[in-house]
Amino acid sequence: MAKIIDGKTISAQIKEECKARVAELKTQGITVCLAVIQVGTDPASTVYVGNKKKACEYIGIKSLSYELPEETTQAKLLDLIEELNGRSDVNGILVQLPLPAGIDEDAVIRAIDPRKDVDGFHPQNVGALCIGQPGFVSCTPAGIIQLLKRSGIAIEGKECVVVGRSNIVGKPMALLLLRENGTVTVTHSRTKDLKAVTKRADILVVAIGKPKFITAEYVKKGAVVIDVGIHRNEQNKLCGDVDFETVEPLCSAITPVPGGVGPMTIAMLMHNCVESVSIG
Ligand code: NDP
Repeated sequence: MAKIIDGKTISAQIKEECKARVAELKTQGITVCLAVIQVGTDPASTVYVGNKKKACEYIGIKSLSYELPEETTQAKLLDLIEELNGRSDVNGILVQLPLPAGIDEDAVIRAIDPRKDVDGFHPQNVGALCIGQPGFVSCTPAGIIQLLKRSGIAIEGKECVVVGRSNIVGKPMALLLLRENGTVTVTHSRTKDLKAVTKRADILVVAIGKPKFITAEYVKKGAVVIDVGIHRNEQNKLCGDVDFETVEPLCSAITPVPGGVGPMTIAMLMHNCVESVSIG
């Protein structure tokens, strides 16, 4: 039986640590403030933004909410970011993605002051991660490192295979595992004989966006499997990129969906917001 890596408990611990730090900062007269910008009314984005605001409230972080109409121009959005960049009372700026068609996401990400980029998407922060300098790190992969460390799973010297090379999960995940002295392989849709590569993994991180894609044939006995995917199946139940039923009996530890990686993303966002006070 595999150990189930409990993202709910670990994310709750991180949130409590953030809450204590925010309270401590308050005694020094410092308030942590996050500006959250949503353009349009995409229902999934509305849920994510709502959850982020709720987490801020719980931890004691002040959140400023900007709900802009779908037809907002890129210029208007950039003006708002410029204004927030200049405000000393705002520590973090988060623009909920995806943005409506017609707005260049890269331009918007680049416009955020890297010292307020709590999502860790700005090229300066990505570059800093790449060369081992301090900066904000993308929340989902940062959360996975915390899941591993706080579950007592060593990364150093391990064969780590990441399936997926997106800018927000796969690539920063690979860099973080490398920073922790793992031996890292990144795979993607053009990888030849994916099974042979994933079977080498002591730690397998799957961020592919395809429900239950990774079955037992992809996994070495005793591996640690981290499932980033989130999908709803035909019965409207959540599932991941990993076929939990067939993989779990094989591995030594695994994250469930829900309750694995998912809750870590917001916890690490809160962590980044708290950090933004010292970076800004
Ligand atoms: P993307 O769609 O941006 O990237 C998917 C990656 O998987 C790509 O690099 C793609 O390769 C690769 N891929 C696709 N098909 C295959 C294949 N057959 N074999 C090998 N590699 C393949 O997804 P994200 O990284 O944004 O997200 C991945 C999953 O994680 C999604 O289910 C998403 O919902 C979830 N997610 C969950 C989060 C959480 O908080 N738990 C946060 C973010 C994402 P190529 O580059 O060649 O196209």
